[in-house]
Amino acid sequence: MTKYILALDQGTTSSRAILFDKNGGIASIQNQEFRQIFPQPGWVEHDPNEIWLSQLTVAKMAMAAIGATHSDIAAIGITNQRETTIVWNKDTGMPIYNAIVWQDRRTADIIDNLKNEGLDKLFKQKTGLVLDAYFSGTKLKWILDHVPGSRAQAKMGKLAFGTVDSWIIWNLTNRRNHVTDESNASRTLLFNIHSGDWDEELLSILDIPHELLPGIVPSSGIIGEASSGLFGARIPIAGVIGDQQAATFGNLCINPGMVKNTYGTGCFLLMNTGAHALESKNNLLTTIGWNFANSGHNNRQYCLEGSVFIGGAVTQWVRDGLKFIDDANEIEHLATSVPDNGGVFLVPAFAGLGAPYWDQYARGAMLGITRGTTKAHIARAALESIAFQVADIVKAMENDANQRLTSLRVDGGACKNNFLMQFQADILDTVVERPKLLELTALGAAYLAGIAVNFWNGIDELESVWQLERKFEPHMHNSEREELLEKWYDAVSRCHSWAKE
Ligand code: ADP
Repeated sequence: MTKYILALDQGTTSSRAILFDKNGGIASIQNQEFRQIFPQPGWVEHDPNEIWLSQLTVAKMAMAAIGATHSDIAAIGITNQRETTIVWNKDTGMPIYNAIVWQDRRTADIIDNLKNEGLDKLFKQKTGLVLDAYFSGTKLKWILDHVPGSRAQAKMGKLAFGTVDSWIIWNLTNRRNHVTDESNASRTLLFNIHSGDWDEELLSILDIPHELLPGIVPSSGIIGEASSGLFGARIPIAGVIGDQQAATFGNLCINPGMVKNTYGTGCFLLMNTGAHALESKNNLLTTIGWNFANSGHNNRQYCLEGSVFIGGAVTQWVRDGLKFIDDANEIEHLATSVPDNGGVFLVPAFAGLGAPYWDQYARGAMLGITRGTTKAHIARAALESIAFQVADIVKAMENDANQRLTSLRVDGGACKNNFLMQFQADILDTVVERPKLLELTALGAAYLAGIAVNFWNGIDELESVWQLERKFEPHMHNSEREELLEKWYDAVSRCHSWAKE
């Protein structure tokens, strides 16, 4: 009898491996950080071999820590930092350039050219994405433009492109499988999210040879086997999914209209829109959530996605910039030492504003300061600003989907802040549900793998595994909420275009 699903959670700063038991509990967990490489301002790279080695190491350590062997493991599920781009040589297995990380801005000028040619609409319609250097397509183009001879080699079928999931699978399968799933493919600017295939027109615009692209596999289904040389015997690989979609599935936002928010450094909101790829009228992204191998052809789930640049990072600023607290956990105590924000509103547009405003020239502001303003009011305004920004995205989602949010499920480091969660419920006038287990990214990948190998008998069984830790009910009067939101919008409007010359 197998006892565990092994989830590999390959993140931006660390690789993590978790063994989940049948109850969705963590039987073993290991984590290892790896190097962040900053060759120039705005450039961010990883060494693909460090990514792979750290991931393999933590997987072996997680098993060894509880004496688990291959025969205890039903399947492997993989989740990964999205958009990060790797190109390697199929014969040698070696990368031809470092991984270009999602945060890397070096291809901003390629994006500007595409925009100047008026191609935004075409990309948006086919890929669901806005033209931005964030996604893989222009990063891949950059590598082919800058590594001598690489485009010709790619045309001869000698090279492989992949996001981090592909790279991990290629190595796990001892170079047998060169594949990616639709959730990862939908972040490349190269994938048609309606047809579920690479798009020849977009490939030709970016001058990318089809030959180096990975095959497309389902997010849930046996797609290969980890080679016996790694774990003593073969283990099926049965789940592959990008990190934000994984957290959405991990939080069981499986029905249309369900929304999750991850409160990390930034915030990532995803709304399940079911089988329908909704094109946003409010500057949100349309992306593929996941699909299953075993449930017919029309099982692809789509999501709307919006992100806040400065989420939990505002707490870091209160700690490291303002030095009001020594530890992030202290912010709640400070913020609740006053009965309200004392009229203070903080707009943390430190790096511009993301969805739904999209103003890269906006900068932060604090308004409503009086002689009575204290550290506590500012800390409170900082936490409230996270909830206001999330509410702005929820409103955009509700408008796009023409549907009211019924509840918000949460995860990420800052969601343990009870004040923030209550204020979020109040300002959204919606229930906020915090699950017991907060490793939802890894859990989402484990769920998808576990369903594929019948470790769990479908989604119904998962519903009984997902456990609520605390529900935050909205208590605020409508008039108070409206007054606060009005002030917030007013404050945001004053930040626009501030840094524009
Ligand atoms: P990431 O995965 O983006 O590194 P995490 O999910 O680990 O982020 O969350 C860490 C973020 O949450 C940090 O920005 C931190 O400042 C913030 N944070 C952590 N604890 C709290 C807290 N109790 N209240 C508010 N913010 C917090």
